[in-house]
Amino acid sequence: MSAHARLGPSSAEAWMTCPGYPNAVEGLHDPTSEYAAEGTAAHAIADDCLAMGIEAADLIGSHLTINEKDEDGNVTQTFTFEWTEEDAEQLQYGLDEIRAFEGEFFGEHRVDLSEVYGVEGQFGTLDRGVVGKDLIVVGDLKWGRGIPVSPVENKQLMIYALGFWHNIARHRTKATDFLFIIDQPRCPGGGGHWRCTLDELLAFQEELRIAAPKTLDPDAPRVASEKGCFWCRRRQQPPSEPGAVSGCKVYDEYVLDAVGTKFDDLDDAEFIGDTIPLAQYDQLSAKRRTYIVKHKKVIEKWLESLHAAVIQDGLNGEEIPGLKVVDGRKGRRTWVDEKKADAFLAQRLGEDRFTIKLKSVAQAVKSMKPDERHMLTDSELFVEGVPKPVLVDERDARPAKATVDEKFDDVEFDTL
Ligand code: SF4
Repeated sequence: MSAHARLGPSSAEAWMTCPGYPNAVEGLHDPTSEYAAEGTAAHAIADDCLAMGIEAADLIGSHLTINEKDEDGNVTQTFTFEWTEEDAEQLQYGLDEIRAFEGEFFGEHRVDLSEVYGVEGQFGTLDRGVVGKDLIVVGDLKWGRGIPVSPVENKQLMIYALGFWHNIARHRTKATDFLFIIDQPRCPGGGGHWRCTLDELLAFQEELRIAAPKTLDPDAPRVASEKGCFWCRRRQQPPSEPGAVSGCKVYDEYVLDAVGTKFDDLDDAEFIGDTIPLAQYDQLSAKRRTYIVKHKKVIEKWLESLHAAVIQDGLNGEEIPGLKVVDGRKGRRTWVDEKKADAFLAQRLGEDRFTIKLKSVAQAVKSMKPDERHMLTDSELFVEGVPKPVLVDERDARPAKATVDEKFDDVEFDTL
C-alpha cells in the first residue's frame, strides 16, 4: 500500500474546507478494507498493462497479494485476489481509451506538490497522464462499486494535474488545455470526462495556496461540510466527549443544523406519544428541504453513528429510554471451506447440490459471441428497465427531465 502525504490530494475535500482536518486525523489508523486492497490490485494490473503494452486479459488467472503494513513496515493484514475474465473486461476500456491519445505517456507517477500548495514536503501519485502537443490528459482509475465519482471540478484530479504540469508537462509542451478522465468501470453513473484550462487550474492553485498553509496552525479550527466530512477518519471514531454522537462534535452540530435542530432543541422537544414532532414537508422552505436532501448521505452516516452510540450506551448500562439491547438475527451461514463442503455434498446430493438460475439479460449478452449478441439485443425477449428519476448536481451534463407542466405543453389538443 502506498505512503500517504499529510495534505494528500485524495483528502483535499476535507482539508480545503476544514483546516483542522490534518490535526484531527493525525495518528488515526486507516484500516485497509478488502475493497481498498482490491483497488490497489486493479491499479497494479492496469499499470503493468500500460507499462508493458499488454492487455488486461493477458493477466487472467494471476494472483495478486496486497499487504497492509504498519508504520514500522510489519505486515498486519494480507489480501489475495485472482484476476478474472470479468475484471479484465472492465479494465480494458479505460486502457484502450488512454492509449488512444497522442503524446508522451506517463504511468503511475509521484509528483511533488510543494509549489502547488506553497507548503514544503507534500506529494501525490497520479495514475496516468499524457503530454500531447495541444492537450494534457490526466486519468484516474476508480475501482470502487459503491459511490460514483465525477471528474467535474474534482479537487483530487485538479491537484494531480497541477503537480503533473509543474513537474513534467510544462517542460515538454506549450499545451494549456486539460482533459480529466475518471474511469470507474464497476459503478453505474461513475466516472466521465471534464475539460478545463491552465488558467482555471492556476486560479484553483491560488485557493490551495490559501487553504494549505492554514492547516499548519496547531489550533486550526474544524469546519464541517458534506464532502469534507464524508470520509473523515475523525468522524468515524467513537464519540469524542459526553453528549457527542460521532468522533467530531463539530460534525454533530453541522448535521443537526442541516435538519434545523440543535442538541438543546432535541433535549427540550415535547414528545407526542413516542415521537418527537419533526417538521412536515410543506413546513420546510424549498431551500431547507433541498439542502437536507443534498446532505442526505452525511445525515445517514450521522444516524448510523447515533445508532451505534445508543447500542453502546445500552451495553454500558446507560439510560436508553424505551429501548433495550438484545441479540439480533444470526448472520447468514457460510461455508468454512467450500472445497470440503462441495466434496461432502457431492456424495450426498450429487448434482442437486447446485442451484441453477437463468442468467440476467446483461450476463447473457456478455456470455454470447460478439457477432451473435444482436440476436438477443434485437429480440423481444426482454424489456428495458425504466430509469428512476434521480437528483444530481445542476451542472451535470445530462438534460433535466421535463417537468409536469412542460409535458403538458407538449400535448396537442384537437380543437372542436
Ligand atoms: S469530521 Fe469534518 S469537521 Fe470534523 S475533523 Fe473531520 S472534516 Fe473536520
